Amino acid sequence: MTSPCIDIHSHFFPKNAPNFAAKFGESSGPWVTLHDHSDGTGMMMLGDKPFRPVHSALWDAQARIKELDANHVETQIICATPVMFAYDAPAEQAAYVASAYNDLALAMCADSSGRLRTLAQVPLQDSALACRELTRAMRAGCVGVQIGNHVGPREMDDEGIVAFLQHCVEENAAVLVHPWDMLGGERLKRWMSAWTVAMPAETQFGIMAMILGGAFDRLPAELRICFAHGGGGFPYLLGRLENAWHRRDIVRGISLHPPSHYLNRFSVDSAVFDPRALRLLVDTMGADHIMVGSDAPFPLGEEHIGDLVRNQPGLTEVHRQQVLTENARNFFRL
Ligand SMILES: [Zn+2]
Repeated sequence: MTSPCIDIHSHFFPKNAPNFAAKFGESSGPWVTLHDHSDGTGMMMLGDKPFRPVHSALWDAQARIKELDANHVETQIICATPVMFAYDAPAEQAAYVASAYNDLALAMCADSSGRLRTLAQVPLQDSALACRELTRAMRAGCVGVQIGNHVGPREMDDEGIVAFLQHCVEENAAVLVHPWDMLGGERLKRWMSAWTVAMPAETQFGIMAMILGGAFDRLPAELRICFAHGGGGFPYLLGRLENAWHRRDIVRGISLHPPSHYLNRFSVDSAVFDPRALRLLVDTMGADHIMVGSDAPFPLGEEHIGDLVRNQPGLTEVHRQQVLTENARNFFRL
């Protein structure tokens, strides 16, 4: 029998999204829309440019549940696609957008017989508004919040972002950090390099900022925070950072301890697509800090959700069950 899993990293976009371009104008966009081809496929548009080919599981709960059944996914946690964040828009507009998307995500979950749960999005460029929307969204039924790994030049150790994370602790909200707004500019235009090269670097940057910028030292251990895509480049390059931390004082920032000290302060998902990478992740993070994350239903997601973990050689059955379901149940209080 195939073991069921809980998938903690998947995305949605609502079919009936409000027309934010008409409401706020293109100048604070580009806004995301969906061209539904009415044949089960569609195209996400960013302004007037095609962004990503998609299919109905992105917006239709029943189509999504068919995919969950086929993949033995017991529960799936959905969240915004990062292009929906609106962190570059005026904060009041981003707050309006977050609240509209959060309600639409909750409506999709309400149509799923409990199989789908959602993370909120918040206007992270303004911590007070972000805290307010988080409180509202948690009361409305969200199981946590997804944030991007930076807001322009403000990294994860930024005072406003740390204040928001403190609020997440108070609201008992789990946090998923997703890479977005990738570094690299013009050089990323070929080969989907923004996804294959820069996203893992962004995630690595996010974890590093929390460590070296003293965010983990300032925040309580109760904070439940998970980084997407296996923590990006961080687990693989931890030794390099650790060596630098010990040998050059300018690396240390204001962290009280070397980077390896903080490994029990965060979790990662399993979206690494290779058993050798998953083995490194288990060795580095521990099986109790990894959860299945698929990036479904996008083309670059895990095609058979959870199979990397189900088929991982050398993983004890106890650890396999932790990664497939138990960690997610504890992390998101499902
Ligand atoms: Zn994702």
